[in-house]
Amino acid sequence: MPPALRSVCVFCGARAGTDPAFTAEARETGAMLARNGWRLVYGAGDVGIMGEVARAALQAGASTMGVIPTHLMQLEQGRADLGTLVITETMHERKKVMFANSDAILVLPGGAGSLDEFFEVLTWRQLGLHAKPILLLDTAGYWTPLAELIDHIIAHGFAEPSIRGFFELVPDLATAEARLSVTLAQPQKRIMKPEGSR
Ligand code: AMP
Repeated sequence: MPPALRSVCVFCGARAGTDPAFTAEARETGAMLARNGWRLVYGAGDVGIMGEVARAALQAGASTMGVIPTHLMQLEQGRADLGTLVITETMHERKKVMFANSDAILVLPGGAGSLDEFFEVLTWRQLGLHAKPILLLDTAGYWTPLAELIDHIIAHGFAEPSIRGFFELVPDLATAEARLSVTLAQPQKRIMKPEGSR
């Protein structure tokens, strides 16, 4: 039997941000996924660095899956040319379907939406509901204040120090690729199987 297709869920901004490094590393992410034969699972849009990841992944021949709620199809320019396009009713359903169809989570720079998505998978991990790796790609040091915030939360007794072990801040894409190569080579642990799993 051929090995199962491994999928990486990319959470990232629906805007480009101020630093050209965000766009550059988003494009490199799309190409990196294709190079490794990993499927991109993402928010299906064609805007911001989310659009950059997808465009680069498609150009390089990656498998793709996009998940978008009906009401964002226009605003985020949902792409009709993805390998699989899932249109959901709600934002919650979107996150659930993206998560269920992925083996690892990679978070690129983004805003409140990306933070919402990151904290949801982090809290599920904290509760022992899954064991999927969660990587924060620290492009231009963007996520360093978030890691500091989590240290602050630990220091003030609102989280166990073990929470630091549930995600990893990676300084560059090469490090992210190396981490994903190790974890995606292992058999998938199925701890949680929400509706919408493949
Ligand atoms: P942002 O990081 O704010 O640019 O948003 C990144 C992506 O997250 C966009 O596609 C948003 O539509 C999406 N998003 C924002 N909030 C949610 C949510 N509660 N559930 C699922 N996706 C969300």
